[in-house]
Amino acid sequence: MRQPPTTNSAQISEIFSSLQGEGIYLGERHLFIRFEECHIHCEYCDELDKVGTEMSIDQVIETVQKLEKDEGPHSFVSLTGGEPLLYLPFLKSLMARLKEERFRIYLETNGILWSALQEVIGWCDVIAMDLKPSSVTHERRFEEEHRKFLQIARTKETFIKIILSKEIDIKEYENLIKLVYEEARQVPVILQPISTIIEGHEDPDLMELLMQLQRVALELLPNVRIGPRFHRILKIR
Ligand code: SF4
Repeated sequence: MRQPPTTNSAQISEIFSSLQGEGIYLGERHLFIRFEECHIHCEYCDELDKVGTEMSIDQVIETVQKLEKDEGPHSFVSLTGGEPLLYLPFLKSLMARLKEERFRIYLETNGILWSALQEVIGWCDVIAMDLKPSSVTHERRFEEEHRKFLQIARTKETFIKIILSKEIDIKEYENLIKLVYEEARQVPVILQPISTIIEGHEDPDLMELLMQLQRVALELLPNVRIGPRFHRILKIR
């Protein structure tokens, strides 16, 4: 049975260098550390079947230093998952070490675990947070968690990603946009298309829907973009 997260080790699925494929830093070289576990289960998730290896802080830092030397410079170390904030004791030690090594830290998160964010916000340079529509994830709704999370995240550079399929409930979507308007209206919002068999941007009907949803959001927010997954288009990791 897997041990609960500790200060000294965590289940890491992969550490690799690639281009950032999503969000406002699209196309930059990032060094990714992917944590294995997540506490929710979005229907479209393609990460949950990746099996991690238990790694110590020293092993992670050593791997990061080697990748930075061989494939850098990278503009950020991107902490992703799974859900990195699940590994709070380890994450705090890791982020402190990454800062000692002068890396900039990009935290990619599902935007739910707000009390964990509060404990690591000081080390974050950029926060990429999701808003999760229940009609797309088939999970429960997380509006209140997202609201608290955004209230903390907005003290740092933050942007929001909303993954959208044709299943989106328009009322639920409008409520999420209203939440952003109430808490952090200047924060950029990226609408990302998702589809089951093909990539979201390859479905013309879905893209037409996203164009409509972008217009809905632009009635309240100044910075709303449609952003397909760039790494999937380029067929890279
Ligand atoms: S929050 Fe992210 S990692 Fe967790 S199930 Fe959803 S898509 Fe997967």
